[in-house]
Amino acid sequence: MALDLQHKEPVALALFHAFSVILILGVVLFFYYQMAMKLSINRQKSELNSFSAHLESRIQSILPGEEYFTVPRSFVYDSAFYDREGAPLFSLMHTRPPLLIEGYASIEGRLFLTRHLRSNPLGIGTLCVSKAIEEVQVWQQILWLIVLVLAYLMLSTLWLLERSRSPLLQANKRLKRFMDDAMHELRVPLGVVRLNAEMLQDSLQNSPLSKRVRRIIGASASLESLYGSLEFGMRHGHVEYTPKVLDLEELLTSRIGFFQELAQNRHIRIQADTLDEAYIWMSEEEATRLIDNNLSNAIKYSHEHETVTVTLTLEDCCPRLCFCDKGEGIRDHKKIFERFYRENDTQGGLGLGLGIIHEICEKYRIKIDLNSTPGGGSTFCYTFKNLQNS
Ligand code: ADP
Repeated sequence: MALDLQHKEPVALALFHAFSVILILGVVLFFYYQMAMKLSINRQKSELNSFSAHLESRIQSILPGEEYFTVPRSFVYDSAFYDREGAPLFSLMHTRPPLLIEGYASIEGRLFLTRHLRSNPLGIGTLCVSKAIEEVQVWQQILWLIVLVLAYLMLSTLWLLERSRSPLLQANKRLKRFMDDAMHELRVPLGVVRLNAEMLQDSLQNSPLSKRVRRIIGASASLESLYGSLEFGMRHGHVEYTPKVLDLEELLTSRIGFFQELAQNRHIRIQADTLDEAYIWMSEEEATRLIDNNLSNAIKYSHEHETVTVTLTLEDCCPRLCFCDKGEGIRDHKKIFERFYRENDTQGGLGLGLGIIHEICEKYRIKIDLNSTPGGGSTFCYTFKNLQNS
């Protein structure tokens, strides 16, 4: 539940931020549009006024007895002439003008200007001109405004992010250096404890103390395995492990030997009778993590006095490695491979092991088969497809 919230919070914040930016920008743009349209209409009114004045001066300049009068035409402006009673004399208008009341009017996206004329030889009493109301310029301005505001927002957000990121990066760097040092300081004493306990075990032979020393060896093996997972988890993404042709049987035998004391302390037998010769293309570090995490889990989650069976076989030339235990089994076969997901808190652990295994398998295209039922034990099988047989 807590994990869910952590994921949802930044998304909700980002949505809220985006929504508030859109809202504020929308309100500002709405008022800007109103103002810009007002200015634009005023400008268009004065243009219409100039055109009608031009027409009027042409009409007034006609001499009595003149036979022809050519109405000036325009792509932008329409014009119409009416007599003193309002009856049309001549019209170039596509839209019918409103009532012939002097002044400006706007109808159906057009601007009209009506003027009553002084007496003239043509007998024109009223002149009406019109033009389509232009909005393109206003929308162009708004578009530019949006682009500018968004560019400003983006740049300022990036700048802010960069500024707030740097203390975090510094803290992260310090933490990473501390963890590196701590891991390094842990590794040496761990090795010393194990090595000396093994030497002590050799010298004690059948003494009653030997059982205790065996426990120390088992516990240090468990610690070393946990240490390995932690180190791998921390280095993952920073360190490139180099793959090579690896003798899987040899590595497996060595790792089983490493976990023997731990298994014996829990009265568990590791049976590894079927180990075929197999070579894989993988880094030793990653192969070790895969084997160690499986062996450590099989021992941890088995019931006491049970047997953990390890097999390494070849199936259509592909090595297949299986770990089978008679433990409590697994409920959720998918979630189990997520980092920090655990079904059992009674045994020590961090919930890292299977997550690491999953990452390694994805990287090397190793097929995972999990066969497990609650109460019926578990079998983890890995089929290595990306191999180089030597
Ligand atoms: P950890 O063992 O440190 O908890 P893992 O990622 O290795 O972390 O395992 C995650 C969980 O999967 C464990 O907490 C346990 O509940 C379950 N699990 C793993 N292997 C087995 C197994 N062989 N039998 C039963 N449960 C297992």
